[in-house]
Amino acid sequence: MTCSHSRTKQTWVTTNCFGEETEGEWESETVSTTVDLDLHRYKCAQCGEVMYYSGAAKEYYETGVDRKGLFL
Ligand SMILES: [Zn+2]
Repeated sequence: MTCSHSRTKQTWVTTNCFGEETEGEWESETVSTTVDLDLHRYKCAQCGEVMYYSGAAKEYYETGVDRKGLFL
């Protein structure tokens, strides 16, 4: 299964009218499952994939070379 780095959150929302039957419905919203890992890097808490905010950050973590001066 391909991870979309997001999940659908279901919330039961009720409309509470006093003296009447309580009605409700499921509301779904899509929330991101990514969390900040450290500087210029984040990962998906669901699949564990590490992603980068920029190509320069990716290069730094992969090669150790900070050509753009991101980590000064
Ligand atoms: Zn993911």
